[in-house]
Amino acid sequence: MTAGFPQFRTGKVLATAFTGTLSERHGTAVERIPTPQRLTDWLEIHGLPVESCSNAQLERARALREAIHAAATAAATQDVLPTTAVRLINDCSAQGWAAASLTPDGQRHWQLSPTPCVEDALSVIAADAISTIAGDRDGRLALCASSTCRAVFLDTSQSHTRKWCDMNTCGNRQKKARFRAHQTAKARPER
Ligand SMILES: [Zn+2]
Repeated sequence: MTAGFPQFRTGKVLATAFTGTLSERHGTAVERIPTPQRLTDWLEIHGLPVESCSNAQLERARALREAIHAAATAAATQDVLPTTAVRLINDCSAQGWAAASLTPDGQRHWQLSPTPCVEDALSVIAADAISTIAGDRDGRLALCASSTCRAVFLDTSQSHTRKWCDMNTCGNRQKKARFRAHQTAKARPER
């Protein structure tokens, strides 16, 4: 059941899609994984289905999410990586069991342990965060230009000039605000 819960945002990079499950961190924050069930829903959508999730596992997942957000933000602003965040990412990467396997049609599939648990899924997300922060992927980590958002995203544009974490949310909101300001200016009588 998804009724009544905030929708998930989609993204191509697993680690930053995961940090996006808490949005508007600098405004009115929206928690998109408010319950253990919503975390299992999110994991399933991202190819990491698990059997169950406890409140403690949800807390662990949210702690990893904030650690990735902190470390990736530091990487984007070329600051020193926060030690506790790095430790938690490394712990989560080492704790679960997951193996990459190739499907017959050439896709990568994550094979979790025989009784797939949240820790397995978090190890995949943590490893993805490590390669993203370490610069293994094409692109540059950047922060969303929205002052209430400041989400970290991987800018894969050739010129590295992408401004918004998501064109459909932050980008669109900015465009509408600019349009409204323009209309108001036009409506104002000339003196
Ligand atoms: Zn944004």
